[in-house]
Amino acid sequence: MNIIVVNAGSSSVKLTCYGPTVDSVMATGMVERIGLSGTLLHYQAGNREPIKTPVSIRNTAEAVAALARHLVYPQPGCLNSLEEVQAVGHRVVHGGEKLNQPMVIDAGVKEIIREYFDLAPLHNPPNLEGIEAAEAAFPEAVQVGIFDTAFHSTIPAHAFMYALPLELYGEDKIRRYGFHGISHQNVSRTAAEFLNRSPENLNLITCHLGNGCSITAVKGGRSLDTSMGLTPLEGLVMGTRCGDLDPAIVLHLMEQKGLTLPQVRNILNKKSGLLGLSGGKLSDLRDIIDAMEQGDEAAGNALEVFCYRIRKYVGAYMAAMGRVDAVVFTAGIGENSALVREKTLAGLGQLGIAIDPDRNQARSSDTREISPPDSPVKVLVVPTREEREIAGQVMAVLGTTP
Ligand code: ADP
Repeated sequence: MNIIVVNAGSSSVKLTCYGPTVDSVMATGMVERIGLSGTLLHYQAGNREPIKTPVSIRNTAEAVAALARHLVYPQPGCLNSLEEVQAVGHRVVHGGEKLNQPMVIDAGVKEIIREYFDLAPLHNPPNLEGIEAAEAAFPEAVQVGIFDTAFHSTIPAHAFMYALPLELYGEDKIRRYGFHGISHQNVSRTAAEFLNRSPENLNLITCHLGNGCSITAVKGGRSLDTSMGLTPLEGLVMGTRCGDLDPAIVLHLMEQKGLTLPQVRNILNKKSGLLGLSGGKLSDLRDIIDAMEQGDEAAGNALEVFCYRIRKYVGAYMAAMGRVDAVVFTAGIGENSALVREKTLAGLGQLGIAIDPDRNQARSSDTREISPPDSPVKVLVVPTREEREIAGQVMAVLGTTP
C-alpha cells in the first residue's frame, strides 16, 4: 500500500510518498516559487542522489503532475506505477464547522472547501487545486482531506464565540475556528509519548511559531482554546501578520486615514507583525535577531513585542486549564530560537515554569526537554511532523494501522 501526502500552498507544493507505515517514507518532493521566477523542483527517492532542477511550472496542477511523474521515473522509480497509490491525503486549511474530521473528498466536500475561499483566500484555493490535480494524477486513489481547523472543533462555545450580535454566528458562522491544528495535534501526541503520559491526563500549551504563529491549550488531548480565530490573522505576532488588535483600529484607518479595504487588508496581513514593527524591513526572525545584535532598536522592540504576546497567552491558557503539565515549542522559530524561548518564559518560576540555559542552547532535531530536571512544568521542544500526521490520519480513515 502506498499513500501520498500533498501540501499545496500559495507558492509551493510538497509531496511525500509513504509505504505501508508512517515511518516508511519512500520519496519526498517539492516545487517552490510557483508562478515566480526561479521555480525549482526538488526530489529525493530513498537514499538516491537528491535532484534539484529549474522547471517552468506555472501552477499547482502542473506541480503535482510533475512530482507524480518523478515517482515512477527514471525507471525503476520508487513506484512501478501511479496505480499503486491507494490514497492521497491533502492538507486543507479551512474546513469550517462542517469538515471537522478527516474525510474522503467527494464533490460535496470540494464544494464546502470552495465556500471557505473567502475566509482562507491564500490557502483554500491552492488546496482545492491540489486535490483536483491529484484526482487527475492518481485516478485510482481515494482523496482524503485533513483539515487544519478540525483539531480545534472541540473548543467549547465560551471560547469560540465572539461577543457580537448572535445572528452573526447563527447566520454567518462568524466564530473562532483556529488553525495549525495538524501541527498542534502532532506535537501534543509526541509530547505525551515523550513524557510517557497518557494524553487524556495531560494539559499542554503548544506554541507553533513559524512565519504564521499560533498557541493552543490542549486539555486531555483535545483543543480547548487557540489564538487564531475566524481567520489565521488573530492572536500572536507573526512574520507579516499583526495578530490581536483593537478592531476600532480598522475603522480608524478607513475613516480617518481614508484607506480602502484592500489597503487595510494588505497592511494587516502583509505589512504588520515583525515586518511592520521593524520598520518595514525584516519579517524573518533570524534577520530581526541579527539586526538587533547590530544595535537596531526597532528590531529589538519587535522581538520584545513578539515574545510578550506569547507570554500573555501562556498565562491565559494556564488559567483556562487550571493546571499545565508542559509548554511545547515547535515550528521554525519554536524549534530553533533559544532566545525566543528564553525571553518568552523568563521569570515565570512562581508559576512553576523555568528553562535550563544549557539545555535550551543545545542544538538537536529530536524532541527534547529544556526545563530543569525537577521543574513542575516541563518545557519541551518538539519538531512538528505535519506530513507524518496527515499520513497517519489517512491510514486511520482507510482503517489501516499508521
Ligand atoms: P512556515 O510558517 O513558513 O512553515 P517555518 O516553520 O519554516 O515557517 O518558520 C520560519 C521562521 O523560523 C522564520 O522566522 C525563521 O527566521 C525562523 N527560523 C528558522 N531557523 C531559525 C533559527 N535557527 N533561529 C531562529 N529562527 C529561525
